[in-house]
Amino acid sequence: MKRIEFLKTSSLVLVGGIASPFLSCSPKKPQMEEIQAEIRKNWAGNYTYQAKNLYEPTSVEEIQDLVKKLGKQKALGSKHCFNNIADSPENQISTRNLNKVLNIDEEQKTVTVEAGARYGDFAEELDARGFALANLASLPHITVAGACATATHGSGVKNGNLATQVISIELVTPSGELATIDRSHKDFPAVVVGLGAFGIITKVTLAIEDTFQVKQHVFLNLSLDALEANFDTIMSSGYSVSLFTDWTNKNISEIWIKSRIDENPADLGSDFYGAKAATENIHPILGLSAENCSEQMGVPGPWYNRLPHFKMGFTPSAGEELQSEFFIPRENAVAGIMAIEKLNNEISPQLLITEVRTIAADNFWMSPCYQQDSVSIHFTWKQKTEEVLSLLPKIEAALAPFSVKPHWGKLFELDPTTLHQRYEKFPDFLALAKKYDPNGKFRNAYLDLNIY
Ligand SMILES: Cc1cc2nc3c(=O)[nH]c(=O)nc-3n(C[C@H](O)[C@H](O)[C@H](O)COP(=O)(O)OP(=O)(O)OC[C@H]3O[C@@H](n4cnc5c(N)ncnc54)[C@H](O)[C@@H]3O)c2cc1C
Repeated sequence: MKRIEFLKTSSLVLVGGIASPFLSCSPKKPQMEEIQAEIRKNWAGNYTYQAKNLYEPTSVEEIQDLVKKLGKQKALGSKHCFNNIADSPENQISTRNLNKVLNIDEEQKTVTVEAGARYGDFAEELDARGFALANLASLPHITVAGACATATHGSGVKNGNLATQVISIELVTPSGELATIDRSHKDFPAVVVGLGAFGIITKVTLAIEDTFQVKQHVFLNLSLDALEANFDTIMSSGYSVSLFTDWTNKNISEIWIKSRIDENPADLGSDFYGAKAATENIHPILGLSAENCSEQMGVPGPWYNRLPHFKMGFTPSAGEELQSEFFIPRENAVAGIMAIEKLNNEISPQLLITEVRTIAADNFWMSPCYQQDSVSIHFTWKQKTEEVLSLLPKIEAALAPFSVKPHWGKLFELDPTTLHQRYEKFPDFLALAKKYDPNGKFRNAYLDLNIY
């Protein structure tokens, strides 16, 4: 099924209501209405899962039994992807009940969590024990396994994506066996950013470091000319830097600079390359309340309260939205931004906001940043599926000279052949996915289209 078709079909089901039966392994079965409202759609509500059955196991053993006895199946995390990557023609296995911290090893500096733990579930505990994760995504509401499976990232010229924090994973393979794959295992670079193709991850061990404090400054209205002349310096001016623009007036509307206190950053002052320091907390989308945003105005706070843009207890971002994101080599950042700027008249009417971030190179075969320092150009769209899907090929064409790669968990239209050519290790990934899952238990329409 082509991408545009799956999204159209999905919205039709949404309008018509859902009558699919579903099963649960949890001892206390939640109300049907609750489950249908909360679970059968993805977070953004733009995609309705087609899997007939949903299971919510409460132990690794239950997952092993399910994996062994079920046919087609897929792990389901916190449902924050915008496409059908987490769907299955038959069964979804949610990890929502597997969300505990299993161990904090102070000597080895690692934390082991169950795969369904969301970063926000354990960040505070980690901090209280004196530790931190090196980086987080824009929101703390996503599961560790789901985030790593799609190469989810934050920002920072020296920060790799969140999968680079992984030390080892425990995986249930199609036969129901448990496998532990750590950094010394030859399959590690394939399986961690594995797009759900290898099995159900049950535990993840992450590298931690001593806790640190971060302060966040926001500057308003940077001209594209100033960005063009100073891109590298601007993106290196903090531990994690994000640019926001709606592509109108050749202007970056906001620069968010997150600085570690222990790195003793220079005072950024009130004028930053012509942009002016904000005088109150603001939302990335100007005009929206900053109530759900992490604290700004240079007030120091723990890493987990500053690195994400949104607080754990609040709805992140705009809610009713779509997202796409494209990665190009960092050395082409300015050229890529200028290429997109030429489409501003078509993009702006459909857009809520664009965010530009940097991500350091890593070694995961299916990471868009595989062995390449990268910049990502992200689009939070209004929830107008047809308009957005028809714009994506134009954006992908504008960035084609830079061998653009899309975010696996967001909307894209790039044809599979081109996609494969842009991943040097794609043939190895495909061969390994077939070896791990010879009967295609974990295959779904997304993998069939984009990988197999
Ligand atoms: C508001 C919002 C903000 C976002 N911000 C960012 C951002 O800052 N940076 C960024 O890069 N992305 C961002 N994203 C995208 C999002 O983080 C990713 O797409 C991520 O994969 C979502 O994780 P999840 O737990 O919801 O996974 P799901 O959508 O539930 O699943 C994603 C994939 O992971 C697989 N998976 C999940 N759990 C397991 C498991 N236990 N074992 C094996 N496979 C598993 C699923 O099968 C599926 O293939 C954002 C999304 C939203 C909605």
